[in-house]
Amino acid sequence: MFYDLLLASINKVLMKLNFCGLSSGSSGNCYYLGNEFHGILIDAGIAATSIRKFLKNIGISMQTIMGVLITHNHTDHIRGLEVLSRKNTLPAFTTRNIWDSILTPKMKISRDCIREIPLQQKFHLAGFDVEAFLVCHDAPETIGFYICAGEKKITIVTDLGHICQTAAPYLQASNLLVIESNYDEQMLMNGKYPHYLKARIKSDQGHLGNHQASAFLADNISDNLSHICFAHLSKNNNTPETVLQTLKKTFSDRGIILNGHQQISVLNRNMPSEVIRLTE
Ligand SMILES: [Zn+2]
Ligand SMILES: [Zn+2]
Repeated sequence: MFYDLLLASINKVLMKLNFCGLSSGSSGNCYYLGNEFHGILIDAGIAATSIRKFLKNIGISMQTIMGVLITHNHTDHIRGLEVLSRKNTLPAFTTRNIWDSILTPKMKISRDCIREIPLQQKFHLAGFDVEAFLVCHDAPETIGFYICAGEKKITIVTDLGHICQTAAPYLQASNLLVIESNYDEQMLMNGKYPHYLKARIKSDQGHLGNHQASAFLADNISDNLSHICFAHLSKNNNTPETVLQTLKKTFSDRGIILNGHQQISVLNRNMPSEVIRLTE
C-alpha cells in the first residue's frame, strides 16, 4: 500500500505537460495541451491538414487527441472543425448557445462529435478537469477555458474586449496564462482600418489591446504565474516586439520586477510556437 502510494506520487510528480500554440491570431487559432498519453486541442481555426501537420512537427500524433474545445463561432476558431469531425471523428466541446451559432445548414458536423458543456462546471477530458467561463466578445457567446492538469492550472482566453469579473478569477488562478494581446492602440488608430472596424476592435466586446493585457498582468502578477503566452496578435496592428515593449514599460512604470522564473512569450500567428514544458 505504502509503495503503491509512493509510486503514484512519483508518477504524478514526473507527469509531463506540454502546451503549444499551433497557430494564433485573426487568421486562425489552434492550441495543443497534452501529457505523455493524451492531448486536447483548443479551437480548430486552421485547416485540419495543417493541424495534423503542425502536431506532427512537434512530435504529436493525431491519434492521441481526445477532443477539441471550441471558444466561439468565428471562422478563425472553427475553420477546420467540420473536417476534423468528419475525418477524425473528434468530439468537440462547447456550450449549447455556441453550438446553436455554429450549426448552420452549411456546417456539416457529425452528430456523434457534438458534446454540450455547462458553464462554470468542471468536466473531465483526457485526464484534465476543464471548466468553461464566459468572456465578453462580439460573437453570440464566447468562452474561455480553465484547465487543471494535476497541480497545474492553464487558462486560455483568446478573444475578449475586456476582462470581466466572471473571467478575472480564472486568469488570476493560472500557472500558464494564454492571454490575448491583439493590437497596439497607436497602430490601430493610425492604421488603415475603417472607423467602424477600429471602434469594434477597441470596444468592450471586441479585442484586448496590448495596454489592457499588460495592465491586467501588472495588477495580478504572482509567483504562481510561471508562464505568460501572448496570443491572437493582429497582423496589421501589432508586432511581437510591441507587445513585449508594452509589458516591459508597464511593469517598469509600476516598479514591478519579475522574479526571473517567469517565462514570457508571444505565440506565432501561422506556425507552431516553441513547446512549453511543464510538470503536472
Ligand atoms: Zn479570433
Ligand atoms: Zn472572435
